[in-house]
Amino acid sequence: MRILVVEDEARLASTLQDLLELDGYLVDVCHDGESGLDNALSGIYDVILLDVMLPKLDGFSALRRLRQSGSTTPVLMLTARSDVTDRVTGLDSGADYYLTKPFEPRELLACVRALARRQPTLRSTDLLEYGDLRLERNAFTLFCGERSVRLSRKEFDMLELFMLNRERVLSKETLLLKLWGYESDAEDNNVEVYISFLRKKLEHLRSRVKIKTIRLAGYCLQQNG
Ligand code: CA
Repeated sequence: MRILVVEDEARLASTLQDLLELDGYLVDVCHDGESGLDNALSGIYDVILLDVMLPKLDGFSALRRLRQSGSTTPVLMLTARSDVTDRVTGLDSGADYYLTKPFEPRELLACVRALARRQPTLRSTDLLEYGDLRLERNAFTLFCGERSVRLSRKEFDMLELFMLNRERVLSKETLLLKLWGYESDAEDNNVEVYISFLRKKLEHLRSRVKIKTIRLAGYCLQQNG
């Protein structure tokens, strides 16, 4: 489980990090809204802790942009203000839960556990589209016009990640972490194998969408023509 903490108060950020790491989570910390959003968009996190008052980009705006990108990662908003308006704005922006500072560590950990459990069923839509492709999430089936093909679990997870991060470059490391996890001894080679499986299926569908190799950076989805 990997958690992103976006909090500009350095002391609170490191307290949160310690607390979560003690509970066995892998934690990354960002100190402003812009880098927080950038990291959140990578799609590698299971839960995001997001402060409201942040430099560069406030938490509400960051969250709205994250949701607009199609991300369904559970977000726990943290705020110093207990204002009802704030709470409503947060939930309207797409927050899954709200915690007012100061909060009890136990309460925070309980929230994180609850949100992490929700993740697998948390789907904003059962259909994901990009270019001429339609990915049916319930059926593990990829459509292009009249043609369709079934995907294996791993192929599906990989393509879904690409479609949620459209035209963003995903590194091999990101793909490995997200698709095989931290405990796994999978290597770069596994990523390459599944990329080639997916490319064959895209070819079979005669889709205009390609998985492009970006030298020394990773892969990204692109549509030609
Ligand atoms: Ca703050």
